[in-house]
Amino acid sequence: MEVLENVSLKPFSTFGIEAKARYWATFSNEAELKTLLTTYKHVPFMVLGEGSNVLFTQDFEGLVLVNQVKGISVGKEGVGKVRVGAGENWHQFVSWTLENGLYGLENLSLIYGSVGASPMQNIGAYGVEVKQFITNVLAYHTETHEIHSFTNRDCAFGYRSSIFKTTHKGKYIILWVDFQLQTVPDLQLAYGDIQKTLAEMQITLPTPREVSQAVIKIRQSKLPNPAEIGNAGSFFKNPEIPLAQFEALKKQYPTLPAYPASEAECVKIPAGWLIEQAGWKGYRRGEAGVHERQALVLVNYGNATGAEILDLAQKIQNDLFEKFGIQIIPEVNVV
Ligand SMILES: Cc1cc2nc3c(=O)[nH]c(=O)nc-3n(C[C@H](O)[C@H](O)[C@H](O)COP(=O)(O)OP(=O)(O)OC[C@H]3O[C@@H](n4cnc5c(N)ncnc54)[C@H](O)[C@@H]3O)c2cc1C
Repeated sequence: MEVLENVSLKPFSTFGIEAKARYWATFSNEAELKTLLTTYKHVPFMVLGEGSNVLFTQDFEGLVLVNQVKGISVGKEGVGKVRVGAGENWHQFVSWTLENGLYGLENLSLIYGSVGASPMQNIGAYGVEVKQFITNVLAYHTETHEIHSFTNRDCAFGYRSSIFKTTHKGKYIILWVDFQLQTVPDLQLAYGDIQKTLAEMQITLPTPREVSQAVIKIRQSKLPNPAEIGNAGSFFKNPEIPLAQFEALKKQYPTLPAYPASEAECVKIPAGWLIEQAGWKGYRRGEAGVHERQALVLVNYGNATGAEILDLAQKIQNDLFEKFGIQIIPEVNVV
């Protein structure tokens, strides 16, 4: 449990942005975490999983803690119950579930990051959100040093949101996540491209593993690979706007798409559509840009600074507000 000083965070975030951590350490259990937090209590801390949803805009003058809590244990008290260490890789866990006859997470295949970060923003893709399968989140309170078990309801999951990203931000470190998975598959195929891709794969009655393979195929063809070009997936959340505003905008932009929203009398608008419509898709300034195929993804062409990416994000936000009267907000955690 060595503490390193002045560590480059570039390899620890998928944006691949240069920033330094004053102190840096990994922890693999509660005791190590307690020692680190009490020894370095005079400086701020932040926890990192795999850095696939963060943008560093400056050096971090504190302690960066990389979560390495590992392990998957199958609950004895009920079929389909699994407890997973927060430092496990999300996609490897999804693969493990499929190998072990446990279903539900297949649509969430190949999402980057750690299991511990999955409740943070209630990861979701292709019509499924992780909140549907989480029963409890076991998290370490950074001041009392006690572990609290949050029920699904306590987590107040919403669209790319939970209490860990809102009211309890920075107060808890997630160590374990409990899941209740299905033993009989209940496949969710309604999301457009899944059926199309399965048809291309000549599969008519898919297994959960085949759905996972279809999702992997779609994601690989649509999303930029951070190993090739720095990014953190969707940079912005899709905004929810009042129905009346949508109807007024629809007159001006007849092709404006809309989806059901979590709020009543509101609709969800794809932020990528707005960004593309405003002419930002494929935009590049220096080393920062908007991906040429995915307008929702901001990219680092190699040596962008976090400030450059943030500046681009703010320009897009302002432009969309001027053009559509819609405020979009980042999904990515800006540090
Ligand atoms: C190409 C690409 C595609 C993506 N597609 C999707 C998608 O389809 N759907 C989706 O929902 N997301 C998507 N994402 C975002 C990302 O995969 C998720 O947000 C993921 O859960 C982040 O995990 P991480 O371990 O990398 O978190 P990090 O980036 O390390 O951390 C994210 C935030 O969570 C906090 N955090 C991390 N671990 C813990 C912990 N144990 N306890 C408390 N706080 C913690 C961090 O402090 C930070 O604020 C995508 C990202 C990329 C790069």
